[in-house]
Amino acid sequence: MNEASIATLKAKIDAASRILIVSHLRPDGDAVGSLLGLGLFLQGMGKDVNMVLEDGVPTIFHHLEGSDQIYKEPIGIYDLMIVLDCSDISRVGDVLDEYGRPDVNIDHHPTNTFFAHLNIVDPKAVATAEMLVDLLAVFNTPLTQEIAASLLTGIIMDTLGFRTSNITPKALRMAAALQEAGADLPTLYRKALIQRSYEALQYWGAGLSKMERDGRLIWTTLSLEDRHKIGYPGRDDADLVNVLSSVEDMDICVIFIEQSDGTVKVSWRAKLGFDVSAVAIQFEGGGHKPAAGATIQGQLDSVKEDVLKATRKLL
Ligand code: AMP
Ligand code: MN
Ligand code: MN
Repeated sequence: MNEASIATLKAKIDAASRILIVSHLRPDGDAVGSLLGLGLFLQGMGKDVNMVLEDGVPTIFHHLEGSDQIYKEPIGIYDLMIVLDCSDISRVGDVLDEYGRPDVNIDHHPTNTFFAHLNIVDPKAVATAEMLVDLLAVFNTPLTQEIAASLLTGIIMDTLGFRTSNITPKALRMAAALQEAGADLPTLYRKALIQRSYEALQYWGAGLSKMERDGRLIWTTLSLEDRHKIGYPGRDDADLVNVLSSVEDMDICVIFIEQSDGTVKVSWRAKLGFDVSAVAIQFEGGGHKPAAGATIQGQLDSVKEDVLKATRKLL
């Protein structure tokens, strides 16, 4: 992040009174945590802030202060529109269709398409939340406990609890500082990464019972039928892909989650040395080298076949 873009962002925020902040579909902890961290901070400066997630807030984040103020669509006009944790504009869904090019894009995905007027992109950051801690420091206002808790949730989730290959001493020091600012690390960690609903574990069971492998490539599917039979409320995989990636002799794992709109959500995870974002991009998705995703039109079986064929080329 260069000084000039940080100064430009500060000037834009200082000049704005009504601010819209948006993050991505199927929001993860970094999407929700970054949205709340920035949103609550700007509210503290006296700004009129609207926080929007087209898919709403997953129940596992309802403990975060301010999560009840996140809406599913924007209302009215804004002086400043900020998009967080999105590698391209389609990640926000349809919510900005009538609003034109966003003013600011703050993100850490190497596949970012620089879709806004001001693009602050740092692929070295472990989470968008990490970037926000640095960006907000220019205001010289201490972070409240609520803001620290949201931003720490972003860092915890995107690093899977400080264990992804991109973890840095800087991110660890930042987590310590957020804990000093009052964030309850053990509780946030448990709520973000450990605690699951009974249905989520049953859903894992459905996926695990269909797990397949071809050498060091592992995959499984979650169908709409699995989801409905179990009563799992989300459209996601309940993070089952991270369980698949724990198989000792795997290089790449893939999960296929059938959606009700005729698409399939695909998630890839890979060991160091592989770049699954390159395959995700072929299917109009994106992400990071070791973790990528895409939403692909088509039937579960045919999407699976196409994606596995493209993924095998990496091995
Ligand atoms: P997921 O597989 O959804 O857990 O996402 C893994 C990584 O890929 C995250 O960094 C996501 O932000 C990114 N990602 C997931 N789906 C997409 C998509 N459709 N387009 C671009 N990036 C994506
Ligand atoms: Mn995210
Ligand atoms: Mn992120």
